[in-house]
Amino acid sequence: MSSENKSPPHGGRGGSGITALLRQMHDAVAQEGSAQDRLDNLSQVIAAHISADVCSIYLRQPNDQLELYSTEGLNREAVHITRLGWGEGLVGRVAEQRSPLVTEDAPSHTGFAYRPETGEDPLKAFLGVPLIRSGKTLGVLVIQNKAARVYTDEEIEAVQVVAVLLAEISASGELLSREQTAAVDEMLHQPEHLKGLGVVGGVVSGRAVFLQPPAPMHKVFASDLGAEAERLEEGLNALRAAVDEMMANNASLSGVSLEVLETYRLFAYDRGWQDRLRAAVLSGLTAESAVEQVKNENRARLMQARDPYLRERLHDLDDLSHRLLRLLSGETSGGKRKLYKETILVARTMGPAELLEYDRRKLKGLVLGEVSATSHVAIVARSLEIPMVTGVGEAIDRTEEGDTLIIDGDVGDIHIRPTKEVIETYLAKRELQTERQATYVKERDLPPKTKDGVKLTIMMNAGLALDMPHLDETGAHGVGLYRTELQFLIGSQLPSVASQEKHYREALDLAGDKPVIFRTADIGGDKTAAYMDHGADVNPAMGWRGLRMAVDRPGMLRPQLRALLAAGAGKSLYIMFPLVTLANELDDARALLDREIERANRRKQTLPKEIKIGAMIETPAAAWRTDIIAQKVDFLSIGGNDLAQFYFAADRDSARVQFRFDSMNPGFLSFLKTVVDKATTTSVPLAYCGEQAADPVMAAALIGLGVTEFSLPAPAVGPFRRMARSINRAQIAEWLDKRLAAPAESLRTPFAAFLKQTGVVLE
Ligand code: PEP
Ligand code: MG
Repeated sequence: MSSENKSPPHGGRGGSGITALLRQMHDAVAQEGSAQDRLDNLSQVIAAHISADVCSIYLRQPNDQLELYSTEGLNREAVHITRLGWGEGLVGRVAEQRSPLVTEDAPSHTGFAYRPETGEDPLKAFLGVPLIRSGKTLGVLVIQNKAARVYTDEEIEAVQVVAVLLAEISASGELLSREQTAAVDEMLHQPEHLKGLGVVGGVVSGRAVFLQPPAPMHKVFASDLGAEAERLEEGLNALRAAVDEMMANNASLSGVSLEVLETYRLFAYDRGWQDRLRAAVLSGLTAESAVEQVKNENRARLMQARDPYLRERLHDLDDLSHRLLRLLSGETSGGKRKLYKETILVARTMGPAELLEYDRRKLKGLVLGEVSATSHVAIVARSLEIPMVTGVGEAIDRTEEGDTLIIDGDVGDIHIRPTKEVIETYLAKRELQTERQATYVKERDLPPKTKDGVKLTIMMNAGLALDMPHLDETGAHGVGLYRTELQFLIGSQLPSVASQEKHYREALDLAGDKPVIFRTADIGGDKTAAYMDHGADVNPAMGWRGLRMAVDRPGMLRPQLRALLAAGAGKSLYIMFPLVTLANELDDARALLDREIERANRRKQTLPKEIKIGAMIETPAAAWRTDIIAQKVDFLSIGGNDLAQFYFAADRDSARVQFRFDSMNPGFLSFLKTVVDKATTTSVPLAYCGEQAADPVMAAALIGLGVTEFSLPAPAVGPFRRMARSINRAQIAEWLDKRLAAPAESLRTPFAAFLKQTGVVLE
């Protein structure tokens, strides 16, 4: 951070720096008089500081016109007369694009709109900066000069600092009249619709809670500088003490890495940061405003940093600023936020462990700014069935704590402060989903048998103890895929044997008599644990992951097998190995299991009453040799997610390539048929546990190909059962048989039409 301190905008440049300007602004706002007088004083002070011929303030009106509210240098008669449309002229353009515009020669700029009443004829140089608050343009601050001059970086920076403050005081009521402040407030609270990326499906509504609590409302300018300086010192002392305590308690903090804590401490003790805060307070700002101000400056600088590590540090710095703001407001309790009965948690980013700390009954949805669909938090949210939308950093600026939000994780919609009509539409959609879900519950005991008598087995996918109640709700036969790696991903270190054993025992207890197939930790690829060194695979999906990693690193697999054997004592234990490529990897894995069994025997521990070993078929190499692999195991399961990724050579996490290929491609279906046929030549049962089977059309095709056992995400179990009970397997097999060699890209449309025609229920 030291390099950020070279030219502090506050202080350090003597009386002519921003500190002096802020002090003058403070005095201008504090003066007696009308709101118009105060605004005019401000324009004067700013113009003088920048040596500008003109300083004008345009404020946005409810009809989105930008009205000249105050000017130093233009004709005063133009005030409240001159208006520019949204996007009109340079001022309108600054407002629309929400970014500064600077030009030496405004009249020759393509966007220039001439307004004779302002008397701006002789003006050349132009610098316009938007007044932004909560992500919205409230107005534009304009600096103009007669000469075609170039504004220096320092001048531009000074005007930006002023613009941030102007936006803040416009909203705080310190500057404008009561009616004008109310109009600004209304503008800030209009309904908004943002489009993000739906990462976990489902429609939910709730009230916004920020993972990082927002800064409490505060004044911008202080009345007693000495007292304010003292408040700041107290806040800084409390902050350093809090960070030191966090460091001391590090061992008990999960999800926050040591590195992050060390960065916090570095920032908390950074002299440059503290000096800039002190200088800002001395210029007349409240301690809170000083924190915001310095945070914004750092943000602007770090955003430009090329080094991604530095850009990442932005979050740490924001977090630290928030902590300081909370301490200044007298709030001492950190940690978990209090939730409303129905809450949508909003954050720039969050870790999976943090997510698990919240009450599932109240946490209805997630809006995350900078989180990818494959991040650990997304994996956990999916497992918890918490609808989630990402990729909308703006949502954080535009939402206020307590605002009503509706999110639709199916399509990525976010509605902030929705209108009555939007709420009604979404309530109807949700009601429909709930009603449908209730009818599935009623059908949970119906046997999943096709109309022509083929008995199917429906299992469920799980990964957390929290998933287990779905077994009962859905009537699934058991857990066909328990993704054990979730426990590995959410911790800050490798989970101990004891904690793994406890976890597996809990899952088995919750499953009662139903079987649970534990898939050993499939780490690597997109699922990386922070504490593991994965090297630098260029293609991690094809790199060191799954079973390859497990047999190379017995230090990870053996403790897991030990925990599984202990948890399964006296019961049936099912262990499945992920990403098998060559059959001999299974020999290695089995050898490790045998060593653990011997170890348990030596210690006279009770073993499971039976141990069944399974292999996942999720690489083309394993698919091609399904019959050979079958000889080494008791059961097989097709991991369609990975298998499709390798079949199509299309990264399963890349939206751009994923949508190019449909799993209903006849080539892929015929490939799957080969796997099913090869397995049928052996007596080893084969299941399908890829997400594709959650789509009833694809699931019907799989039944037609001869798959009889499925493991699905819990919400897909009901629709699957209904579909399965309404099909005739032989008829479907016949239809598919004739088309598997077709050159079509996808059989989806004709197949879905055929299903409908034959009365198959697809929802
Ligand atoms: C698969 O690849 O289909 C699978 C079920 O495993 P995962 O999605 O956990 O990689
Ligand atoms: Mg897989």
